[in-house]
Amino acid sequence: MKAISEFYTLLNETKKPKKVMITMHQKPDGDAMGSTLALYHFLIKLGHHVQVISPTNWAPFLDWLPGAEQVWDYEKTKLFSDATIKAADWIFCLDFNVLYRTKSMEPAISQAGAVKILIDHHEQPQVAAFDYGISIPEKSSTCEMVYDFIVGSGHHDKIDPLLASCIYTGLMTDTGSFRFPSTTASVHAVIADLKNLGLDHSKVHEHIYDSNSEERLRFLGHSLLKRMEVLYEYNTAIMTIPKADLLTFHTKTGDTEGLVNYLLSIDGIKFGAIVIDRDEERKWSFRSKGDFDVNQFARQHFNGGGHKNAAGGNTPDSLTETVQKFKKVLLDYKSALS
Ligand code: 5GP
Ligand code: MN
Repeated sequence: MKAISEFYTLLNETKKPKKVMITMHQKPDGDAMGSTLALYHFLIKLGHHVQVISPTNWAPFLDWLPGAEQVWDYEKTKLFSDATIKAADWIFCLDFNVLYRTKSMEPAISQAGAVKILIDHHEQPQVAAFDYGISIPEKSSTCEMVYDFIVGSGHHDKIDPLLASCIYTGLMTDTGSFRFPSTTASVHAVIADLKNLGLDHSKVHEHIYDSNSEERLRFLGHSLLKRMEVLYEYNTAIMTIPKADLLTFHTKTGDTEGLVNYLLSIDGIKFGAIVIDRDEERKWSFRSKGDFDVNQFARQHFNGGGHKNAAGGNTPDSLTETVQKFKKVLLDYKSALS
C-alpha cells in the first residue's frame, strides 16, 4: 500500500473524469455514511462519476445526509453494483480495515481491477488489499481523515455547508459527541473550520439524536430493565437481547445502536458488552473505559476487532452459549478490570 500523498499526485494530475466507487463497512454508522458521502460530494465537484455502494442497508436516522438518497444497498442492487464495481477506475474503501467487513461485496471488490484506496482508522489494516491508503488508529473518525484528504490534496475550497455536515456527522458519532479520548485538538480545529464554512451543527445533532420512534424508546427502557446484568466484581455490565425482543418492539436497523453506551454510564463500570440475537449470527459490541483493550478481547475470543475502547465481534453459537462463554472468558480478566 503506497502512501496517500502519492495518490494526491494522481488525483491532481488526472484530467479525464474517472469512474469511482466508494464503499464502507456493512451496516454503516454515522462515520461510514458521513465519510463516504463527504468524499462523494468532493469527487463530484472534481468532475468524476461517483457511485456510493453500501454492503447492506443502514439506519433510517442517516437518511437525511446529503446524497444518502443516491447510495445503493448492495443486497438490493447486486447486478448493477457488480457491474459498477467491475467497471470502476478507482475504488475507495472507507471506515473499515479488512475486506470481509464488506460482507457479500468482498469477492466483487477483491476481483475488481480498479486502483484501490483505503482511508481508515481501525487497527491492523489488510494493507495487501490496497494500492494506496492511509490508516491512522489515533484518528477520531474516518470523517476527520476525509477532511484531511480534501485539504491535503489542496482542495479546501471544495468544502461547502452540505459537505461539512457529512464530515461533522462522523466526527460527532465516532467521538461519542466529543467525549472519547480520541477527541483531539485537531478535531476541534476541524470543527471550527467547518463552522466558518457555514456548518449548522445543531441540525446534525437533531437528525441523529432526536429522531427516536416511541417504540425505540420503549425498547431501550425494556432492555435496561430486563436485559442488563451488572457484574460488579469485574466492573463489567452485559446486556443480552433475545430475538423475541427485536420482534416485540419491531426494531429496525440502528435501533440497537448506542445501547451499549448505557452500560458504561454506570459509575465504576469499565467494560460494557452487548450481544444481540440476529438471524445469521450473535453480534457482540464491546466498549471500555481506560486501559482495557476490547479490540484485543474481541479478536481473541469473538472473531472480531475494532478499536481499543470500541470493538465488535460475532459468533454462530446460540445466545445462551455465547453468554456462557463470555462469562467464562471474563474470569481471566478479573485483575485487568479491577
Ligand atoms: P460496533 O460495536 O459499533 O458494531 O463496532 C465497534 C467498532 O468495532 C467499530 O469500529 C467496528 O468497525 C468494529 N467492529 C464491529 N464488529 C466487528 C467485527 O465483527 N470485526 C471487526 N474486525 N471489527 C468490528
Ligand atoms: Mn469510524
